[in-house]
Amino acid sequence: MSKLQTITILGATGTIGMNTLDVVARHPDRFRIFALTANGRIDALYELCHRYEPTYAVVLDADGAERLRNKLKAAGLGTEVLCGIEGLEQVAAHPEVDTVMAAIVGAAGLKPAMAAAKAGKRILLANKETLVMAGSLFMQAVKTGGATLLPIDSEHNAIFQVMPTKVTDTLAESGIRRILLTASGGPFRNMDRALLEAVTSEQALNHPNWVMGPKITIDSATMMNKGLEVIEAHWLFNATADQIEVVVHPQSVIHSMVEYIDGSVLAQLGNPDMRTPIAYALGFPERLESGVGALDLFKIGRLDFQQPDMERFPCLRLAYEVLRLEGTAATVLNAANEVAVEAFLSKKIGFMDIPALIEATLEQATISEVTSLGQLIDVDAEARETARTWMLEKVC
Ligand code: NAD
Ligand code: MG
Repeated sequence: MSKLQTITILGATGTIGMNTLDVVARHPDRFRIFALTANGRIDALYELCHRYEPTYAVVLDADGAERLRNKLKAAGLGTEVLCGIEGLEQVAAHPEVDTVMAAIVGAAGLKPAMAAAKAGKRILLANKETLVMAGSLFMQAVKTGGATLLPIDSEHNAIFQVMPTKVTDTLAESGIRRILLTASGGPFRNMDRALLEAVTSEQALNHPNWVMGPKITIDSATMMNKGLEVIEAHWLFNATADQIEVVVHPQSVIHSMVEYIDGSVLAQLGNPDMRTPIAYALGFPERLESGVGALDLFKIGRLDFQQPDMERFPCLRLAYEVLRLEGTAATVLNAANEVAVEAFLSKKIGFMDIPALIEATLEQATISEVTSLGQLIDVDAEARETARTWMLEKVC
């Protein structure tokens, strides 16, 4: 790409946002930051505005926006500050923007990602919850809006890298038998079920291989992250639940694999550093220097594989179940999981209450066919309400 790519980073102060800025900063001749957004952390966003001088900064709440506006003004910086979901949608769909990094965490990322899809942007999708919550509608918006979708999740980025260049309608038509989605297994990979009951949020936040935001780190510990990724792979690659196999691979060196009908298995390997998939998507179809060091296979020595245990990690089983149920089931699962993770982080529930709460919420929900975004937002709100009620009953 010869012209300067103009980028909006949704969730700029997060782990993915900061890694994106790290790669972008290595290529000032290629990229210009158009907008940066954040929820809280106004001081961090101010520092980023100071360094990258974006045209816009967006803060979710009006008070935070006012605080940032005053700080920028006092420093003589010309960045304009917007606020709210409308502000996020505006910078995601703005005519001057080429590329949108969708790196907000959770269901909050859905509306701006949709806005980018409808406006036909090149979307670098880290926010997997968008696909879990509204996969059919989002993929439709990408198609009708003429957007280009590039996966950032390391597994899906790996699969994308080893897929045939011409991806046809179904995996079978591309000569693919299965997707092998690798999982680190998280910090409790080999822990007994009885001990899992007593796990603390501090232990769960200590991931062995990856440095990530708190929500995805807890999702990794419960293996819900892998469950969300199975659903993500379904939408991105048009794969059925039976065509996606989770393979526990503790070293996190193979980021996923594609198995072809002739028996070939193609894998993408690398150090566990999100700057690799980010640089791949930023430069696509060219390769960019990312700052990630070379893979030292001699130091790694061996690569291990094991089957996931759905008894100890029921979240993974629940994700497969909702994928088979179709309709609004995954929206319910996602909402209940967000409530459960927040409650676990604030020590209101135990580790094994996370899958119990999600399962109870799913049992109470009426699953229907997906018709509109408004419907999904209502389903999400209702599932959160059910989950909170379950929690109140459990805690009291
Ligand atoms: P994080 O918690 O580090 O950052 C989240 C960002 O979103 C922050 O900038 C925050 O200000 C913003 N945000 C949070 N709530 C918001 C709201 N309600 N409205 C607007 N903005 C809000 O999270 P992360 O680890 O960077 O993950 C971001 C997304 O990328 C998640 O969907 C995650 O699953 C996905 N992802 C992350 C990694 C990783 O290595 N961190 C890997 C793969 C996928
Ligand atoms: Mg991942």
